[in-house]
Amino acid sequence: MQGAEPGRPLVKFNHCEKHIYGFRVPESCPLCGQAVGSRRLEEAPVSISNPFSNGHQEKCSFLLRPTQGTFLREYDGRSDLHVGITNTNGVVYNYNVHGVRRDEAGWEQSLSVPLLQPNMFGLVDQWDKYLDEFSASGAWLPHRYEENYHNCYSFTLTFINCILTTEGKKQLDKDEFTERYVVPRTRKASKYIMLYRAIEERGFYVADPPDPQADPP
Ligand SMILES: [Zn+2]
Repeated sequence: MQGAEPGRPLVKFNHCEKHIYGFRVPESCPLCGQAVGSRRLEEAPVSISNPFSNGHQEKCSFLLRPTQGTFLREYDGRSDLHVGITNTNGVVYNYNVHGVRRDEAGWEQSLSVPLLQPNMFGLVDQWDKYLDEFSASGAWLPHRYEENYHNCYSFTLTFINCILTTEGKKQLDKDEFTERYVVPRTRKASKYIMLYRAIEERGFYVADPPDPQADPP
């Protein structure tokens, strides 16, 4: 799938008392034209962590991606998102107007949330069976689909709540689910997308370093 990979890595280096972001460290600084050395420790580049991952490589996870297109190219902060759950082989179970889909491709650029805590590894062996049985339920037949109230979110939230119940934990309502799983990821992704597109357009992006006098955020 062209263009659906998690994206090129980004680096940040310091020069001219600015933070400069790009796909790589140039030989000369785009601001002053002087050679960029890594002789000084404070000028050494650091890599910027990419919020996206290939969902087909994530086991037992909750995934998010734009319904149409990809985050890096098409997402505008208001685009519809589609969500799903992976099995232990990275097959993405997701619900739409056609019923439950089992996607082996198409989620290469996703935001991902692992659903198994380190103390829940006993569940791994049961995970695929639970997910298959859950997906076979009449609740997820195509004609039951309803865009606002019985959709891909209902499917994933109901499954996550089944798992939480199995683990003797409290269930989440839709708002808690959104606050916990969706909002922090889309917020972080939006910042990264802005940075990525600016670099694609201009080759680099310049930011002021945080003011050391300012209060920590
Ligand atoms: Zn410079």
